[in-house]
Amino acid sequence: MKYVDEYRSAQLGRVLAGEILAELEPGRHYKVMEVCGGHTHSIYKYGIGDLLPENVELVHGPGCPVCVIPMGRVDDGIAVALKDGVIFTCFGDMLRVPGSQYTLLDAKAQGADVRMVYSPLDALRIARENPDREVVFFAIGFETTAPSTALTLKRAKAEGIANFSCVCNHVTIVPPLRALLESPDLRLDGFIGPGHVCTVVGVRPFEFVPLDYGRPIVISGFEPLDILQSILMILRQLSEGRCEVENQYTRVVPTEGNVRALEVMADVFELRPHFEWRGLGFISQSALKLSERYREFDAEERFAVPGVRVADPKACQCGEVLKGVIKPWECKVFGTACTPEHAIGTCMVSPEGACAAYYNLGRFARDREAV
Ligand code: SF4
Repeated sequence: MKYVDEYRSAQLGRVLAGEILAELEPGRHYKVMEVCGGHTHSIYKYGIGDLLPENVELVHGPGCPVCVIPMGRVDDGIAVALKDGVIFTCFGDMLRVPGSQYTLLDAKAQGADVRMVYSPLDALRIARENPDREVVFFAIGFETTAPSTALTLKRAKAEGIANFSCVCNHVTIVPPLRALLESPDLRLDGFIGPGHVCTVVGVRPFEFVPLDYGRPIVISGFEPLDILQSILMILRQLSEGRCEVENQYTRVVPTEGNVRALEVMADVFELRPHFEWRGLGFISQSALKLSERYREFDAEERFAVPGVRVADPKACQCGEVLKGVIKPWECKVFGTACTPEHAIGTCMVSPEGACAAYYNLGRFARDREAV
């Protein structure tokens, strides 16, 4: 398949692994964070860690959109789903994210009309087909998925669909990245930048990483050779004493991003003053809400969403995993009380979550065998 097979060549992978080895300074340990959950998934799916020298450590970041949704937001969603006459729609991953008591899937089992959709436009179609019901879309995701929610809301407004609304949980990647860089307990040498987000926002929003924090960042694609090449580019910057934003994913990411998508987002959304991230606490200006022009579609106002705050379960160490402070298997409940079938934390739910990636793609078994 064009643009896929040529980025999965084992032979070229070995060549890149050799070039990576040649860039390393003897005795130095390198920590490189992949910001995006899509990269985490690819890294474990293709066993990229096995191709790297031992002193190049990959650290997983906060870029899985399902993982960062706090329990309180799930509880808010369930409260709306349980209201009479509501059809509650969300992506499949969200169904299994634990709230304080139970999940949206449990709410469905109790009789709530909760439906999985593949896009917000599916939710809008359901609203058209059910004019006597209130249809709510639980929107999640970074800048990658926010434009599709924005376009759906524009269409709802243009068509005058009054029984459609949205719980907006869209988040932005730069503020948590900045928070991580401010964190004293995490020493990172460079970043694999979020290729999907950058298709929308471009590369410029990441210039603060080298400018303010002196760390290289390489915007990367998601195939194994993309990731290996990006790691090589980061290490090469370090060995040459350079520090900048580079774009490995030029076949998809334009420097300026998708200007039309940014315009649509600017029309439909505005920044929230602050937003709670699971395990990371409140981060200023890190999430989106509907702008004044689209307020009529805001489900939080329409249903007087309680806005509950719930502390994470004591056993849950998703926050440390999302910050890259611990590896998934270092969490005390990994693979025992917390599994994909019965998740305690969000990182075990989505395929992009680091814990699910470790568990589902064999790292758990291999690590256990090695002990
Ligand atoms: S094992 Fe479960 S509780 Fe522990 S960090 Fe992973 S998802 Fe969170």
